[in-house]
Formats: sequence, structure tokens, C-alpha cells
Amino acid sequence: PSAPFLLTYKEYVGFATLPNQVHRKSVKKGFDFTLMVAGESGLGKSTLVNSLFLTDLYKDRRLLNAEERITQTVEITKHTVDIEEKGVKLKLTIVDTPGFGDAVNNTECWKPVADYIDQQFEQYFRDESGLNRKNIQDNRVHCCLYFISPFGHGLRPLDVEFMKALHEKVNIVPVLAKADTLTPMEVRRKKIKIREEIEQYGIKIYQFPDCDSDEDEDFKQQDQELKDSIPFAVIGSNTVVEAKGKRVRGRLYPWGIVEVENQSHCDFIKLRNMLVRTHMQDLKDVTRETHYENYRAHCIQSMTRMVVKERNRKYAPRRPRPIGQHQTGQGRTGRT
Ligand code: GDP
Repeated sequence: PSAPFLLTYKEYVGFATLPNQVHRKSVKKGFDFTLMVAGESGLGKSTLVNSLFLTDLYKDRRLLNAEERITQTVEITKHTVDIEEKGVKLKLTIVDTPGFGDAVNNTECWKPVADYIDQQFEQYFRDESGLNRKNIQDNRVHCCLYFISPFGHGLRPLDVEFMKALHEKVNIVPVLAKADTLTPMEVRRKKIKIREEIEQYGIKIYQFPDCDSDEDEDFKQQDQELKDSIPFAVIGSNTVVEAKGKRVRGRLYPWGIVEVENQSHCDFIKLRNMLVRTHMQDLKDVTRETHYENYRAHCIQSMTRMVVKERNRKYAPRRPRPIGQHQTGQGRTGRT
């Protein structure tokens, strides 16, 4: 065939169907995602989770009384739900850290949470290095929504301490809780203050990936808006109310209705889209490529150090015995 024919005639081998094959396989397997919620109790964590995934995850929850809360240590609970939408299955695990910040003494209250995250990494590391690597259950925490109180002036020392203790282990997404208790102006000011403090204290929260330069303008603008929304101002509600003839999730006040899913009332929709529609895979990738990799490298380093130490101990020359000490046998003073 002549050259022009080669240029115009293109035979397909068929690998253009690869994305479909991958897609079908993943859909069949289903997806999983583990979300952790942390922050002082009473900031609306459970309500928000229920609103986010339209499920009642906390049916059996028992609230503690004040006396119980004084001595309470951070207890971690896990709820799993299977959600299906248009044939796509998502196994969602919510890790809750109830009671956080409740006790009188809150020093190192982040420790059990940090330990929990490490334990999941450890389990994965073991499974991955074990004999049966096929069906590993992945319980690594992909994202931690950190609830900041709307009543303080920016971050409190406990918030700084908590986020700094965890920022190298998990993707932290800060949220400004109960945003309906603030005016729009207050929300704007608080967001700026919190962002400044996050920078000032060197807290590394989850960074949205940069947009490719060839993306269209609309997409770029949305991406910038998302970045400027941090911390997401959220409102949660477990009740459905009627607003302008429509039934919506909202909070009914004597002076009006606050709608959870109304973008001019709060960033709930932005947060949900980010978590579910746009960045779920990136959150998983960063968990695997950065946080888990750090843990793994750390583990391997300390294992190697231990092996070297052990070998040195075994093969180190034995110290000659002090002169005059009776010695049985021959030439047992040392070995190199
Ligand atoms: P958790 O302890 O952090 O899980 O908090 P809960 O979800 O149990 O909520 C504690 C209280 O705050 C409940 O009375 C909720 O009805 C209320 N609440 C939850 N979300 C919001 C919100 O967005 N705004 C307001 N004003 N109250 C909320």
C-alpha cells in the first residue's frame, strides 16, 4: 500500500475498549470508601453524615449523660452501609470518634484516633505481605472531616493539636459546623481566619489537585470556587420541611427555613459533590500513594534497623575475658 493509504486507513486493534473493560470490572466489584468524622461532640457530626448519605446510620446510638462524659475516653465506632445507585454499589464506612473533646482533660485525645488510623495501615501492610493477597479488605481511612465549632474565634488549641497530629496520616477536610448559627458575613470572615490559621500553624489539610491547563473555563472556575470554600460551611438536618411548596431537608426556625441543599444557605452540596462526585478517587489515591506509603516506608525502615541491630549483636566480637579468669576449652575468646 502506498503512503497516503497508510495515513488514511486505520485498523483498530481494539484497545480503545480498555476503559470500558476497566469500568465494567470495577462496577462489578463495587467501590468502597471510608470516611472519618472528628470534632467535639454536639457539633452535628452524626446529623451531617445522615444528611450526606441519606441514611440513618445512628439508629442505635445512645447519648451519654454529663457524668459519663467527664471521664469518657475517645471511643471509636464504625458503621457500614451499602448504597446502590443506578446499579453502582458503594460500601461506605463511617468511622466516628464520639466524645472527642468532651472530657475535662483533653490532652492527647487525638491519640486513639491516630492509633486507629495506624492500625488500619498495619493490618493492610500485613495482609499485603502475607500469602493470600487476593481478597484484602481495605479499611484504610480515606478522609477525615474535621468539625470546627462556629462559636469560637477561629481554631482552638485542641483543633490545632488534633489536625497536626493527624495531617500526615489522613486527608483532613475541615468543615465549619452549624453554619446556620452565623450570618453570611460571619461565615466569610471565619473562613478567612481559619484558612490563615491553618497556614500559620503549618497544618497540612487535603489539597485539591491542580486543574489541567487545558480544562474549560467553567471547570476551572468551579475548581477555584471549591478551593476558596475551605472550610466548608455546613448545615445538617434529619427532618424534612416544606419550603415554597417543596419538601426539603432543612431546619425550621420561627423566622424561616434553612435548607441544607440550598447553595446560597451553605456549602453542603459542594462538600457532597466533592466527596462523592469529583474527588473520591483522588482521596483514595492520596491515601494509598502518600499516607500509606509513608507508613510503609517507616515500617520497613524500622524493620531493617532491627535486623541490622540483631545481626550486629549476633556477630559482634565477644569481649575477651579479663586476664586471670579461668577458661575452659580452647580459643573461645571471640569470633569475627
Ligand atoms: P454529634 O455529637 O457531633 O454527632 O452531633 P449531633 O449530630 O448529635 O447533633 C447535636 C445537636 O445539634 C442536635 O440537637 C442536632 O439537631 C443539632 N444540629 C445538628 N446539625 C446542626 C446544624 O447544622 N445546625 C444547628 N443549628 N444544629 C444542628
